[in-house]
Parts: sequence; C-alpha cells; structure tokens
Amino acid sequence: MSAENNIYKKAGTRFVHAGATPDPSTGAIMTPIYQTSTYVQEAPGVNKGYEYARSQNPTRKALEDALAIIENGKFGLAFSSGVAATDAVIKLLNPGDEVIAANDMYGGTYRLFTKVFAKYGIKFIYVDTTDVANIEAAVTVNTKLIWIETPTNPLMNITDIHAVSKISRKAGATLCVDNTFASPYFQNPLDLGADIVMHSSTKYLGGHSDVIQGALVMNDANLREQLYFIQKSCGAVPGPMDCFLVLRGIKTLHVRMKQHNENGYMVAHFLRKHPNVEKVYWCGFADHPNHDIAKIQMLGFGGMMSFTLKDNSTEAANRVLSSTKLFALAESLGGVESLINHPATMTHASIPREERIKNGLTDGLIRLSVGIEDADDLIEDLKQAIG
Ligand SMILES: *Cc1c(COP(=O)(O)O)cnc(C)c1O
Repeated sequence: MSAENNIYKKAGTRFVHAGATPDPSTGAIMTPIYQTSTYVQEAPGVNKGYEYARSQNPTRKALEDALAIIENGKFGLAFSSGVAATDAVIKLLNPGDEVIAANDMYGGTYRLFTKVFAKYGIKFIYVDTTDVANIEAAVTVNTKLIWIETPTNPLMNITDIHAVSKISRKAGATLCVDNTFASPYFQNPLDLGADIVMHSSTKYLGGHSDVIQGALVMNDANLREQLYFIQKSCGAVPGPMDCFLVLRGIKTLHVRMKQHNENGYMVAHFLRKHPNVEKVYWCGFADHPNHDIAKIQMLGFGGMMSFTLKDNSTEAANRVLSSTKLFALAESLGGVESLINHPATMTHASIPREERIKNGLTDGLIRLSVGIEDADDLIEDLKQAIG
C-alpha cells in the first residue's frame, strides 16, 4: 500500500497497513531492514531507483510512505531526529526572512531557532499563538514561515490550526505544525490547512522509547522536492533499523493512543481533585482555555499533562519527582511506560528563566507522560508521591 493508493479509509486499518507491501524477493510480510550503504548498478546510470543510501533506502521509503498515509498527506520524509526535521524546514529560508513562532514550545526548537539559525540572519518573532490575532499582528512582508505547536510542551496550550492557516495563506507564508503531542491519531494538521506537519517520531510514533527520529509530511510536490534536496544534501537521515522500529510502532499507534487518552483522563481528574495540587494543565478539561478548539481539531486529548503543587517551590516539586516508583524520572515522552519530568531543569532548561516564567513555565511545574499501564496503579503511585 503506497501513498498514492490510499484504499484503507479508517484510521486503525491505515495504521496497521500503512507503507507495508510484501517484500518482492521473498514475500516477507514485514519490510526488511535494508542494512546497506550502496546498490549495485546494472550499467553506469542504470539502476533500480536506488543509488546510495543517504539518498534512498527501501526501509526508509516504506516508512516515508507510511508517514504520508497516516497524516493524510502525499509525501513523507524521515530524519535522524525531530530537531533534524525542524532544521530541514528552517533551511528552506534565506537571510532576512522572518519566522513567527509560538512563545511556548519544545525547548530544543527554541534553542535551534535562537542559538543556531538567528546568526544566519533569519529573524524569529515569538508570540502567544493561542490568540491568533497576535500572529496576524506580527505578519510583515518578510514573513515566510509560521511555526506552531499544539498542544504545546509542556503547558498544553491549544492553537487554532485552521485559523492560523488562513493568516498564513494570506501572508504567502508556509505553515508548519509540530504535531508530536497529539500524534496523527488525534490530529491531522494538513486537513486543517497546514503546509507541513512535523513529528518527533521519537515519541508516540515510535512509542517504545527505543529510537530517536523525526518526520515531515506535506502535500505540495514542489515543497517535497525542496525538502528532499535538503534531506540528501545535509544528510540527517535515519538508519534502516530505526526506520523499521518506527514502522513497527505505527502499527499500534491507534491502540496505544486510546489507552494513553483513557489513562490521561483518569490521572488528570485524580490530580485535579487532590488537595495538594494547585493547577492541572490538560486540554481535555472543559474549562481549559481553547478547549472548544481542541474539541474540534483533536479526536482525543492524550496522556500528556503538567501540574503545579499548592507549594509551588522547586523543593516541593523535587520531593514528588524523586518519590514516584512507577513514573520514571526522565526526559522524553510518548512511550508505553509513564514518565515524570521537571521542565525547568530538564526538557526546558535551554530557555532562559525569565522567558520561561513569563510564559507560565514556573520552577514548580511537573510534567507527566502518562503511559499505557493500568491507570489505578499510576494513580496509587502519584498518591503516595504527592502525599
Ligand atoms: C522531543 C520533541 C522534539 C524534538 O525531537 P527529537 O526527536 O528529540 O529531536 C520536537 N518537538 C516536540 C514537541 C518534542 O516533544
């Protein structure tokens, strides 16, 4: 089943079958790991479409077809990490171009923009994208890219993708949406008007905390050509073994996401009722800001959430962070096992403190990636850790 032949209409069937065609030489039902750097040519310039593995690899091709299918796009490209995928998008730009980006997003994206690309003369303007009027107000003749993340990491803020796509189109800019937190099961930004979807495949797509990888999906052939050119020219390609792992992860994405969502609901409601908890950031609550938009653009709310304690000090947060037994203290998210993380010192330490606090990311904030274990066990664990 290829991206051009999308005959499986329902999501579950799509996730199981995306990109998989029996291996032509043996009939192997699973795409083999083509662990090769080069391909023997029949004559100079005569080959089977594979010349050198930085440019083409059959395992990667199967994954890229799968990525396109699961995001309702035409073309997928796989990268050696999520930030490598982001890096490729920014390399579409020229000095003098402007990017409007969310003021609350993954710390590594912020670091890449401010510490690596700003010095090449690309200007990044950070706004609160939860109110799209802020984006509209920041548009200039030089705006070439709008970069949003929804829900955001770690405050679970929601941005209206369709509304931003209208602004982006009017400005003649490209809209890229980091869809890592929602996953393609809960949200498909291309259907809502985005030009590019970006994923850290390390998270829900891989799903088992055993691979680092990134993805881009798009509909426009010209954009695909430019990004493919950057992929092969800059060389941030994933190895075939890693492509195999993400292909395997995708097959169970819908089943895992349903459980993440169910457990997320249970844990979020438990935390909200806990007397020592001040605030829970989870986009499934009816009183979450922009919940109405989340309800329209997302199929589920997932297992990512953050919370603060009534005692919003680093010490109190540290006590919880070091006393969970099931929730492992680690960066990353989206795996089958539950993780607990302290954004201020871990995932978001690369954002200056004043910037962080200004955007609501306080020193006491605790982030959870709720896994697919039994929700009762997870709640018991949090109960004993929060006290
Ligand atoms: C992890 C993450 C990234 C970066 O991806 P890597 O695979 O770690 O390079 C980007 N965006 C979000 C939302 C993430 O969670």
